[in-house]
Amino acid sequence: MDIRLSEFRPIQIQKYVAELDLLNNPLLNNDEKEFLVEFYEFLEKELDDDLRALEKLNYYVEEPTQKRKKDLVIKIMKKLAEKGYYSTILNPENYKVGRIMRNALIAFALCGGRWSDASERYIAGNWSVEMGRLSGGTLFCNPVSYKANEYQWEKYLVPVARDGAIAASAMTEFNAGSDISSMECNLQVDDDKIIAKGKKVFITNGMICDYLVLYGRLNDGPIGAVIVDTENQQLKNFRSTRIRTYGMTDAFVSRLVFDRVEIPKENLLQGHGLDIAFHQLTEERLVIGAEALGDAMKKLLYSHTYALQRQQFERRLHQYQVIRFPISKKIRELNLLISALINYARELDNRPELGSSKLMAQQAMGLKIQTTELAFEAAVHCFRTMGGRGFIRQYSVPIGLLDPYCMIHGGGSNYVLEDSESRRLFKYKPPRGKFEEKFPRIDFY
Ligand SMILES: Cc1cc2nc3c(=O)[nH]c(=O)nc-3n(C[C@H](O)[C@H](O)[C@H](O)COP(=O)(O)OP(=O)(O)OC[C@H]3O[C@@H](n4cnc5c(N)ncnc54)[C@H](O)[C@@H]3O)c2cc1C
Repeated sequence: MDIRLSEFRPIQIQKYVAELDLLNNPLLNNDEKEFLVEFYEFLEKELDDDLRALEKLNYYVEEPTQKRKKDLVIKIMKKLAEKGYYSTILNPENYKVGRIMRNALIAFALCGGRWSDASERYIAGNWSVEMGRLSGGTLFCNPVSYKANEYQWEKYLVPVARDGAIAASAMTEFNAGSDISSMECNLQVDDDKIIAKGKKVFITNGMICDYLVLYGRLNDGPIGAVIVDTENQQLKNFRSTRIRTYGMTDAFVSRLVFDRVEIPKENLLQGHGLDIAFHQLTEERLVIGAEALGDAMKKLLYSHTYALQRQQFERRLHQYQVIRFPISKKIRELNLLISALINYARELDNRPELGSSKLMAQQAMGLKIQTTELAFEAAVHCFRTMGGRGFIRQYSVPIGLLDPYCMIHGGGSNYVLEDSESRRLFKYKPPRGKFEEKFPRIDFY
């Protein structure tokens, strides 16, 4: 049954807003613009129908849609891979635009969509689909490419990075969420195999992936990482189930159970698991920042359009300052943060050594926090502007209204990051000698 009410018309974005078009950003150079134009064309010609079909499945209740969603997501990832848009680790020399910048531009565009001049309509983006791309194309491929030997590269990385097989990264557990280092999943290593025992939760792509990188304790000791071939989800003693989320509805966020799963020992990645997981953290944070900015742009476009179209008390909504001001303020913030993103991504491509800079990692973390908060706030304004329509699927789904709620936690919870950021800023070593003598207490009356 389709739950859409015929009285409610879809919101038609009709007006081009120059400030909400990344191609207008004066900081982007010609090569970057060219790459973005190509990607937007691909989005319109190759992905738009699939993304619309995916959206539509969210309006059916009382009938199974999961298999159809899964097939669409797999098809989209393959199309992305064919053009080198899925993972950006292969053949960086073939592109004029740097690897990280490309990753960020794809993330922005895939979440945000764009007004198409050619067809005079808005081509929608989808943050769930981009989450699938990030999980397989970046969170699986980057750690594996960091440590893979020749065998692991050919057998597990190439099918994902080049051919678009679905992949995942399994870190979070029921008890070890933000506190990753307290994970309990055991990877018991013996002569020729590893036996995995434990559970993982919130794993994007988990129940549709062909391969995943599983983090756990090697013989209940230090954290390690191993590649798991799910054998088309048929792997013995491995179970995956979908977690029903209220945002990111097309992202296949899953719970995984490893009930003494046997994994060949040659799948073990050499090195400490936390180093393997986090060496690419700066890039991941920037890409999530790009996703959030694309998403915020999309929400601002919807709020702007709705404020222009909807009339109440004989006036259009945009004629009320209380509606207009927050939208223009957020557009200003959006463009400031896009400028930071462009500069960070470009510098990381030019100077790869920055990838291991702690200060760079912290700044990327700051960008992740600010951008996901902006997307969150843009969703709040969109919700407010739209009145009752905001809380029904018919409108919240195309806008992805609840997606940014998830991303306050996805990719490292903002509150944990903020807390550690503030602690670091105020870290203070008292000077030698008696503290009270050097800094006498001041009493205020
Ligand atoms: C859409 C989505 C996709 C995800 N995909 C993946 C994936 O593919 N793979 C994967 O491994 N994980 C994934 N996750 C999991 C995600 O990384 C975790 O949700 C996140 O790390 C938070 O863990 P938790 O949910 O257990 O929250 P908790 O750790 O229980 O935290 C609860 C709250 O307390 C706060 N908090 C906790 N500790 C502190 C502290 N020290 N200081 C201040 N505040 C604190 C947190 O910020 C949070 O607000 C995904 C999550 C989401 C939402």
